[in-house]
Amino acid sequence: MRVFILTDLEGPAGINGRADSPVGNTTLNKPTAEQALVNELNAVCDGLVAAGAKEIVILDGHGGSNSIDIMKLHPKASLMQIGNYTPVVYLDGTYDAFIQIGAHSMEHTDGYMCHTFNSHGVQEMRLNGELIGEIGISSYMAAFFGVPTIMVSGDDTACHEARALLGDDLEVVPTKSSINRYAVVNYPKEQLYANLRSAAERALRNLKKYKPLEIPEYCELTSRFMCPNQANAGEKIGLERLDEFTIKAASDNFTDLWAQRLGWAPGVHQKKYNITPQWKHPHTLALDAFKE
Ligand SMILES: [Zn+2]
Repeated sequence: MRVFILTDLEGPAGINGRADSPVGNTTLNKPTAEQALVNELNAVCDGLVAAGAKEIVILDGHGGSNSIDIMKLHPKASLMQIGNYTPVVYLDGTYDAFIQIGAHSMEHTDGYMCHTFNSHGVQEMRLNGELIGEIGISSYMAAFFGVPTIMVSGDDTACHEARALLGDDLEVVPTKSSINRYAVVNYPKEQLYANLRSAAERALRNLKKYKPLEIPEYCELTSRFMCPNQANAGEKIGLERLDEFTIKAASDNFTDLWAQRLGWAPGVHQKKYNITPQWKHPHTLALDAFKE
């Protein structure tokens, strides 16, 4: 079995977050935060290996892809680092399961360090009218390739958000309890690592009960920014401007929709990469070559 893990750096226990600008997030204790993330990942990997995972690929998904020290990482895990999201998707249908570790809730939930991709820019995103955050977007991307999300870990608000979208069968492991955006109680770490290990093992052993999220046939993604100028870039590539703060992307293909959100004009990314549910990501081809 092959498992893909997406990481973020706001959700592990022990990240000391503050406001910087004052709307955006910053982390005061980066070295501790990075150690906390790798400890949690290693606990998850132990559980996955116990449940029979043969291959684990971890994407260092926090901005800049520079939060995971491979020297400290579980010996069975491959580490994917991305300085340039081209193509905009990072996994493919060769995976059996998708997991999100270190996740955080969407902007304006008041969960710990909550934001939606850009804590300095995005007020909210909606998919076909429903609020959506990073957990949702990533789960839909996995679903495009037929891969189910089986586990999410982060603060309690992120875990609630994940279950509301993905259902009560989803394994969630709260790492901490958020009081507000910059106040939190972190759970004791040895018990947390035990919880992560057992949840990962249980999720993979119960893989059959998970289905990929159902993607709407036609997707409209609105992004409401904090300042009108932040909406200009979308308008310039041809997205519809709904008001001074808001742009709308639309597509019947989720990967194309997400590409538009990341700055590709409608249809251009799709035409260049022709990404279908059967498409193989270059990293999969590279790992296959390593095995031979
Ligand atoms: Zn994030």
